Amino acid sequence: MANKKRIVVYPGSFDPVTNGHLDIVHRACRLFDHVVVAVSQNPLKTCLFSLPERKRFLTLALAPLIRQGKVSVELFDGLLVHFAQKKGAEAVVRGLRAISDFEYEFQMALMNRHQDSSVETVFLMPDEKYTYLSSTVIKEIVRLGGKIERFLPAAIVPEIRKKLRPAR
Ligand code: ADP
Repeated sequence: MANKKRIVVYPGSFDPVTNGHLDIVHRACRLFDHVVVAVSQNPLKTCLFSLPERKRFLTLALAPLIRQGKVSVELFDGLLVHFAQKKGAEAVVRGLRAISDFEYEFQMALMNRHQDSSVETVFLMPDEKYTYLSSTVIKEIVRLGGKIERFLPAAIVPEIRKKLRPAR
């Protein structure tokens, strides 16, 4: 099937989405026809932003790519490989920032391969300027009143500030 659309799933908590995540989405769009950004409902992870908030932030940040039909944003729970199968995805993409990400990502990729060997994991590296960026660091800096404009999609900055730094 030469014309089959090549689909990849990009799963994560996105609590909240940062420019590092967006960098990975853009890179994945160059390699695949469609990227399904999958917001995880993992009950073992405590997130600051609710699932609908996290999905809405991604939808705002990715609006142009969504309009072009290159990206969709969905919620998912359960096994990642089951979600990938349901979406007709041949791969999962994850971002690798530094060696510190490697061990966990390697473990997850091999565990996913064990569940379904037809779903590959593809690792992409973001631009160096995002190597030390994480949603956790962003939340901390916003809470303390620091500068974050360079690291967050412009459309969501006011909402993140409002939630983390209510008028005082
Ligand atoms: P999870 O809880 O699944 O790790 P995250 O939202 O923290 O969810 O991350 C989702 C994916 O995005 C992971 O592969 C992570 O390594 C990657 N990622 C997070 N921050 C960045 C960044 N600054 N640059 C590139 N990739 C990133």
